[in-house]
Amino acid sequence: MRAALLFLGFAAAGMAHAENCSIDIKGDDAMKFDKAEVTVSASCKKITINLAHTGKMPVAAMGHNVVITAADDMQAVATAGMSAGAAANYVPADDKRVIAHTSLVGGGASTSATFAGSLLKAGGNYEFFCSFPGHYALMKGKLVVQ
Ligand code: ZN
Repeated sequence: MRAALLFLGFAAAGMAHAENCSIDIKGDDAMKFDKAEVTVSASCKKITINLAHTGKMPVAAMGHNVVITAADDMQAVATAGMSAGAAANYVPADDKRVIAHTSLVGGGASTSATFAGSLLKAGGNYEFFCSFPGHYALMKGKLVVQ
């Protein structure tokens, strides 16, 4: 059973090599993401963000999400997200600058969100970040689309 699962895992990894349509990020209790840069393919019909919080702290103290914006919009969206509050996952509602975002999770939890690949353009300047108040200074990275 375990061998079969491993085989499936390798097969999936092989397919992802040609076209990468997922953004897999881990966040921790040290207010850090495990990646500073993620690359996705411009040809993806859909792109899925998978966020795992590997820490133990509760969402109210050390919540993490992943928000994707154009690099120039990151700071303004982070500020607007803070005003939107925890109930809104610290993401401003109906804000066109937000290309995609996950929900907010605490330690030990995971979340995913899927969005249309057509929202990203090859060679564009994008960032992913956590919009929990104060986190984006440390929890951010470059999203490369190629
Ligand atoms: Zn965070």
